[in-house]
Amino acid sequence: MQYRKFGKIEFHTSVLGFGTMRLPCLSGTNTGDDVDVDESVRMIRYAIDNGVNYIDTAYPYHKGQSEITVGKALKDGYRQKVKLADKSPVFLIKKESDFDKMLETQLRRLEDAYIDLYLLHSLGDDTYENVVKKFDLIDKAERAKKAGKIGHIGFSFHDTFDVFEKILNGYNGWDFCQIQLNYLDIRKQAGLKGLKAAASKGLGVVIMEPLMGGKLAAPPDKVTDIFRQSEHERTPVQWALDFLWDMPEVSVVLSGMSTMEQTVQNIRYASQAQTGKFNDADKKIMAEVKKQFDAMISVPCTGCGYCMPCPQGVSIPNNLEAYNELSLYDDPAVAQNSYKQMLIWEGKESGAGSCIGCKICEDLCPQQIKISTIMPSVDKAFGSM
Ligand code: SF4
Ligand code: SF4
Repeated sequence: MQYRKFGKIEFHTSVLGFGTMRLPCLSGTNTGDDVDVDESVRMIRYAIDNGVNYIDTAYPYHKGQSEITVGKALKDGYRQKVKLADKSPVFLIKKESDFDKMLETQLRRLEDAYIDLYLLHSLGDDTYENVVKKFDLIDKAERAKKAGKIGHIGFSFHDTFDVFEKILNGYNGWDFCQIQLNYLDIRKQAGLKGLKAAASKGLGVVIMEPLMGGKLAAPPDKVTDIFRQSEHERTPVQWALDFLWDMPEVSVVLSGMSTMEQTVQNIRYASQAQTGKFNDADKKIMAEVKKQFDAMISVPCTGCGYCMPCPQGVSIPNNLEAYNELSLYDDPAVAQNSYKQMLIWEGKESGAGSCIGCKICEDLCPQQIKISTIMPSVDKAFGSM
């Protein structure tokens, strides 16, 4: 296993972190609340035995069963070998007392008295302004830290770079953050700019969605053909992970592992992770891959989010991303799944069907995308879901 210093914090974390949001389930899926506890414990312990020391969970994952399963996996001496990351479900907090109540629930589920790394989960402009600030959650987190219940305070993030900068600079006590980044999403959300901004302030940076929810593990054939032109033999997963590990600002790359096979494979890749590993030829391959993806999409949306917020609550970049996936992947289930996930996370109104064609967003789009004329097609493609 390879390790990196975790920002300004005095410990080194494994470059691979075990994300527990897609654990194997008895029903054969990896999203239910019927987690296959025995297999999950076996996978998590295998990862720890092979050097992984960053375990990530959250209040809503597997409807609470992820935290319970992690708690079981970390018994028998495993807890002392890892840094445990968990997240306050900011989006579920409706009143001040909820923060402490939910933290107590988490400690109970984990059968633990202490969480090393505690994140405010999935911050965006709305949750930052209307929950974090309104209910003084940073102060509450600091009190929990003083009480010895949590170690370090961080946040995970899903919004535009401008919002990321505001949150990053809004509190001097952030020790780390978790952002979405992969070779296709370098300009989306916090993006590469956010990675560098956070690292320059001494934050440990944890990367989520390195494979875009697994989509980059099985890219379209035309992309795989480009990877094959390289002199280095790498699987698509390895290309995606090496792209991130190449950057010194990246502390940990989280992978939501669902099978023992993935766990074994990821650990093998992580054992070879290095900064500066990508040579010029590799970079050229990645540029070609990006070009190929761009050529295959129907709408040139960069995910910058300048069009947001939509007064009707439509999640414009996510709708366009799901729509683009229809032309990228042979299996329509990939795009349908992205759309469904968006509705679950952001509510029913985030779907394209809520668009009333006001065009407010179009004046703000640097790509001059005719959003109001595309949304009916998006709704037609996914609206019945
Ligand atoms: S055109 Fe549709 S998506 Fe754009 S701001 Fe108006 S309602 Fe929202
Ligand atoms: S529609 Fe335009 S403004 Fe909105 S995220 Fe896409 S590129 Fe950015």
